[in-house]
Amino acid sequence: MKVRYSYLKQQFSNSDDLWKNLKKFVKTGDFTLGKPLKVFEQRFAKLIGTKYAVGVNSGTDAIKLSLKVLNVKPGDEIITAANTFVATVGAICELGAKPVFVDCDNTFCMDVELVEKKITKKTKAIVPVHFTGYMTNMIKLNKIAKKYKIPIVEDACQSILASINNKNSGTWSDFGAFSLHPLKNINVWSDGGIIVTSNKKYYEHLKLLRNHGLIDRDNVQITGYNSRLDTFQSVVGNWLIPSAKKIANQRIKNANYYDSHLGKIKGIKIPPRLKNYKIVYHLYIVFAENRDKLLKYCIKKGIEAKVHYPIPIYRQPAMKFLKHKNGDFPITDLHAKNIISFPCDQHLSKQEMNYVIKCVKNFYS
Ligand SMILES: *Cc1c(COP(=O)(O)O)cnc(C)c1O
Repeated sequence: MKVRYSYLKQQFSNSDDLWKNLKKFVKTGDFTLGKPLKVFEQRFAKLIGTKYAVGVNSGTDAIKLSLKVLNVKPGDEIITAANTFVATVGAICELGAKPVFVDCDNTFCMDVELVEKKITKKTKAIVPVHFTGYMTNMIKLNKIAKKYKIPIVEDACQSILASINNKNSGTWSDFGAFSLHPLKNINVWSDGGIIVTSNKKYYEHLKLLRNHGLIDRDNVQITGYNSRLDTFQSVVGNWLIPSAKKIANQRIKNANYYDSHLGKIKGIKIPPRLKNYKIVYHLYIVFAENRDKLLKYCIKKGIEAKVHYPIPIYRQPAMKFLKHKNGDFPITDLHAKNIISFPCDQHLSKQEMNYVIKCVKNFYS
């Protein structure tokens, strides 16, 4: 049996009605900041529970433009997670700011207890990453941020519809940054991103930043970027967004099924599943003894298991200038050695999950 990781072939296989919408759209010629984009932004804001949303051309830019609104400049320090995907750090570095890393805990999000001692006079913002579909402890982080008057930009790229106490990721601060990349839970057919906010001033600023700073055809208010979400991709987004909750719920169901079976296997440890947290399992990750051998075994058995990520961003050559040493972030390092990801998406069948469970069982017995 084969258990694929990517489900993209299935995701849009029944999309005749979407193709019809696209054909209709193409005839309008409304390609730049068109009507379907505005509709998508309104739907997205409603889905997440904010007043506004601004479509941009990637999740990376969603973070970058939010930081830009906060006037992040070269030399500023931005606190973020040591185990995140490169894009978070890329967005910070693009503005000339310095990423200041915080180790994670077993929820894969930053250990907020470690944040306070990273704050300096240069700290301009905190970018918690709601990694894997889990959520950073925003209750505690917001207290710290308030105490030091430091704004927060949530990297919610992996956590659409995750929540704490039913309050969604992206709504715990002034900026929630989401990605619509094909590999994310709500995906379009190319790069795309979207920022949610309930602050009107920030909303207006973001709209300027994504479109060259143009207030209208002839007037340039500020220097900006070319970072619009394609209206064509918004048509795809509008087609998919009614399924957003269903997608999240199916992933949660699959993860619960894995948890109940994999959790019984000696050799596997399930991460904490905190009460009042809704985890949306962009990645389904468990801790595994003998991880490298298990990974090899699974791949040999046709299961496309993965590691997110084998080399933490803080140890990558690109981050050499920060002068970190192996061991600076011990939990991140430990995870790099003992985590394994299994497919958990909404298109996965029960048979496929049972096969994964059986193979893991066989490996340890
Ligand atoms: C995917 C991702 C991003 C950026 O997304 P792109 O749309 O690919 O630019 C940022 N942060 C995290 C944690 C991500 O997983």
